[in-house]
Amino acid sequence: MQTQQRGATIWFTGLSGAGKTTLCRAVEQKLRENGCRVEVLDGDLIRENLTTGLGFSKEDRNENVRRIGFLAQMLSRNGVIVLVAAISPYRSARDKVRQNIENFIEVYVNAPLKVCEERDVKGLYQKARSGKIPHFTGIDDPYEPPLNPEVECRTDKETLEESVAKVLSKIETTNISTVASYARL
Ligand code: ADP
Repeated sequence: MQTQQRGATIWFTGLSGAGKTTLCRAVEQKLRENGCRVEVLDGDLIRENLTTGLGFSKEDRNENVRRIGFLAQMLSRNGVIVLVAAISPYRSARDKVRQNIENFIEVYVNAPLKVCEERDVKGLYQKARSGKIPHFTGIDDPYEPPLNPEVECRTDKETLEESVAKVLSKIETTNISTVASYARL
């Protein structure tokens, strides 16, 4: 029963091109197939529509994360499973969000910079290397990996299906009553 669903925030962090959006959308699909109420907060879309005007300084990046976290908290306390895909490079900002959300799962979407750069899904690394995008995470801006993520997905070593199964299995262990069989989907 949908009304019994316990909310949660699943926070996907990692470098650009590591696979956050891909993984997020695949998890979303599985959850929806299972009748769950899900919302995806995708970093790019959020910046276009909600946190418009924020830049890429440390302060602005952390403000972006804070606002996404605020929205995720409101949704997840009302029973929604919120999937956040955002680089969210600073550990302290992610940890602050964690403190405010009861059921918080941090997923470190991990692929080496070299792999992300080779993928260069949006051509951004090439632009960053040629100086057209300053302050690009991993190139000339920091990324602080989680020290103790609930889940780590090495997207250069495991298949998308394996990564999805790990995330679903972790959600299952957080006692969301309606989704007890995710991992077997
Ligand atoms: P991000 O949202 O982190 O910037 P994207 O999801 O947009 O990254 O891009 C990741 C790219 O890596 C996609 O082209 C995706 O098909 C590819 N990829 C290869 N293997 C995996 C995997 N195991 N998990 C997720 N993405 C993968």
